[in-house]
Amino acid sequence: MRIEIPGDGALVLVREAGPRVAEILHRLTDGGARVHVEGSATDPVLADLASRNLVQVVGEPDLSAYDVVLRDPLARPAESAVRPAPSSGSGQVVLVGGGPGDPGLLTLAGMAALREADVVVCDRLAPLGVLEELEPRPLVIHVGKIPKGQFTPQEQINAILVEQALAGRSVVRLKGGDSFVFGRGGEEWNACVQAGVPVRVIPGVTSSIAAPELAGVPVTHRNLTQGFVVVSGHVAPDDARNDVDWSAIAQTKLTIVVLMGVRTLGAIATYLIEHGLDAQTPAASIADAGMPSQRSVTGALGEIAELTRSGGIRPPAVTVIGPTVNVLLQPGSG
Ligand code: SAH
Repeated sequence: MRIEIPGDGALVLVREAGPRVAEILHRLTDGGARVHVEGSATDPVLADLASRNLVQVVGEPDLSAYDVVLRDPLARPAESAVRPAPSSGSGQVVLVGGGPGDPGLLTLAGMAALREADVVVCDRLAPLGVLEELEPRPLVIHVGKIPKGQFTPQEQINAILVEQALAGRSVVRLKGGDSFVFGRGGEEWNACVQAGVPVRVIPGVTSSIAAPELAGVPVTHRNLTQGFVVVSGHVAPDDARNDVDWSAIAQTKLTIVVLMGVRTLGAIATYLIEHGLDAQTPAASIADAGMPSQRSVTGALGEIAELTRSGGIRPPAVTVIGPTVNVLLQPGSG
C-alpha cells in the first residue's frame, strides 16, 4: 500500500509502529504533515526522530484530534507487499549517496537505482521517505547506528551487501550525504570487489557543503577564502585517539566544516583559538539540514559551543567556521 500524503500542515497520527515506520514518518514530514506517532518514547527509532523534532511520540492519543490516522502496514505481516524474488540473475551493489535528508536532494541517478532495487540497505540519515514511492516495494534492511538503539557493525553491513548480491539481487546501499564522505563507502566497495560482486557508486549531495549552504553559508567566496576543509570532530583535539592536526587547521585561513562535532565543539573551538584562530571568527551550527526541523545558530567562534547547546542543536549537525558565514546578503537588505 502506498501512503497518500495528507495536505500540508495536516495533523497525522501513525499507530502500530512496525518495521516500515521510519519510512512512513519521513514521507509524511517530507510532505509537510505534522506527525504524531503512538508508541513508547523509549523506542530508539521513535526517540531519535522525536529528538530531531520531526515527530512527537504520544502514549494515549485522542483520536478525534487528528485529521488522518494511519498505521504501519507492515505491523501486520499479512500485508507485507515486499518484492518476493530477485528481479534478475546477476546481482550487483550500487552505493547511493542520498543527500542530507530532503528527498529533493537525492539525485535522479540515485532514484533510478532505487526503482531498480530488489533490496535497499539504509541508514537513519538517508532520505527514507522516498522508499515509500517505490512499487513494488523492495526489501528494506535498516542498518547502521541509531543513538541508544540498533548498531550494525560495518563487517556485518558488508556481509549483508555481498550476500544479497550473490543471491542475484540488485542491492542499493542508501545513506545520507555522499557515500565517500565519512560514509564508509570505500570499505563497502572493497568488500564487494573482494567477493567478486559488481559495484558502482552514485555521488550524493554531502551535508558538509549542503548544510552550511541551506543555512545561507557558502563554503568558499571569492577574495574571502580560497577553499574549505571538512573534518570529523568525533574525537576532541586533546583526546588520545585524535590524529587530526587541529593546530594546522587553525592556521589554514580556509573555511572549516566540522561534522560529528556537537559533543566536542567546545573543546574544538577552544583549541582552534589557542592555536591562532580569532575568537571573533564567525561560526554557525546547523542541525537537520534540509529537513522540516532544520535549525541553526550563528555567533563568534568563542561562543559557538554555548550557542549550539542552548539553541537546541543536536546531531546530526554541522558547524562551519570562517568569514563566509556572514557574507550573504539577506534578501531585502540590499
Ligand atoms: N556521508 C555524510 C556524512 C556522514 S557522517 C555526508 O556526506 O553528509 C554523519 C554526520 O554528517 C553527522 O554527524 C552530521 O555532522 C552530518 N550530517 C548528516 N546529515 C546532516 C544533516 N541533514 N544536517 C546536518 N548535518 C548532517
